[in-house]
Amino acid sequence: MITKTDTTIPFNKPFIAGNELAYIHDAVITKGRLSGGGSFTERCHSWLSQNLGNCLAFLTNSCTSALEMSAIMIDIKPGDEVIMPSFTFVSTANAFALRGAKPVFVDIRSDTLNIDETLIASAITSRTRAIVPVHYAGVACEMDSILETAGQSGLIVIEDAAQALLSTYRGKFLGTIGHVGCLSFHETKNIISGEGGAVLINNDSGRDLMEKAGVIWEKGTNRRAFFEGSTDKYTWIRLGSSFLPSEIGAAFLMAQLECAHTIVENRRTLADLYYRSLEPLQKAGFVRLPENLSDDSSSNGHMFYILTCSSTERSRLIEFLARRGISALSHYIPLHSSPAGQKYGRMAGPMTITNDISERILRLPLYHEMGPKDVGAVSGAIHEFYLG
Ligand SMILES: *Cc1c(COP(=O)(O)O)cnc(C)c1O
Repeated sequence: MITKTDTTIPFNKPFIAGNELAYIHDAVITKGRLSGGGSFTERCHSWLSQNLGNCLAFLTNSCTSALEMSAIMIDIKPGDEVIMPSFTFVSTANAFALRGAKPVFVDIRSDTLNIDETLIASAITSRTRAIVPVHYAGVACEMDSILETAGQSGLIVIEDAAQALLSTYRGKFLGTIGHVGCLSFHETKNIISGEGGAVLINNDSGRDLMEKAGVIWEKGTNRRAFFEGSTDKYTWIRLGSSFLPSEIGAAFLMAQLECAHTIVENRRTLADLYYRSLEPLQKAGFVRLPENLSDDSSSNGHMFYILTCSSTERSRLIEFLARRGISALSHYIPLHSSPAGQKYGRMAGPMTITNDISERILRLPLYHEMGPKDVGAVSGAIHEFYLG
């Protein structure tokens, strides 16, 4: 009988940068401010717009709520259609289905695992309102092509950049390229606040959308304009909700953002090390590794995955690694094959690559405090699995 050892290399380990509790102390005790919209929220907003450029930022309680806020911002209505990959997290679809719209699933590319931009045009109907590219693993979708397709049909592009903070596409930061971008600071992402997120509004989207966002963020009121003195009545002016996190969350996040570049740099190094260690297995035809990006785009090292040859081989490898105390995970059940996906969405064409990839993808442990030795232990175990 096989007995499992305690996990020695977890899949993920939330990293604490160091100043989180001091900043929370400052917010709660020194400033005496717990509710949202205070100085830490402002500092996070400035950090995001200064470091990513070309955008106005609004912190939210999660990327889920950032996507929901985006759907309200662009007035998604029952009967509208929104194009997205099926290979994504449920929130990408929920945000629009909650407003009565139909998620329309498009297959992914086999190299980046991102929405196949060449299939988008044929998924567009007279009801299509928006395209939601998801930058899987922090790797950029083909944004130039997506923006061109969107422009031809007057569609809005909302980037699900939940995994993609500080990744770039042709020199621009992901989340700042479409009309709107959504980030996540969930504990499983690179930069964290437990639960957290942000909406980024592209400067080119115009003042109207920015003002609208400010109102929706403030529960549908003109509270912002009132405090800025540009109106003398504080009142309900459109639909909104409670999207802003407390200052406690923002203080925590600020401490993380200050270390964001270091964390991303380190994760990239670890991902490169994985690549080099596993390349011989790819050359021998046992596994496939993520594609290297072109020179002017870079990923933020959010994830490192391998593709096994079959679903049963993946199960055996997960078991093999678990016995060595290594936690590796599969990923999404494609939304088109989920009960709610079938009820609320529809497929635009066959989901051949989505189905195939979802059965073979295996995500390996990757976290900031992981050492090169840990990467060596994981890749050593994978070598052992294939070569004995
Ligand atoms: C994590 C994730 C989300 C949801 O983020 P939360 O902050 O947990 O709500 C949405 N989309 C994708 C692609 C994600 O990876």
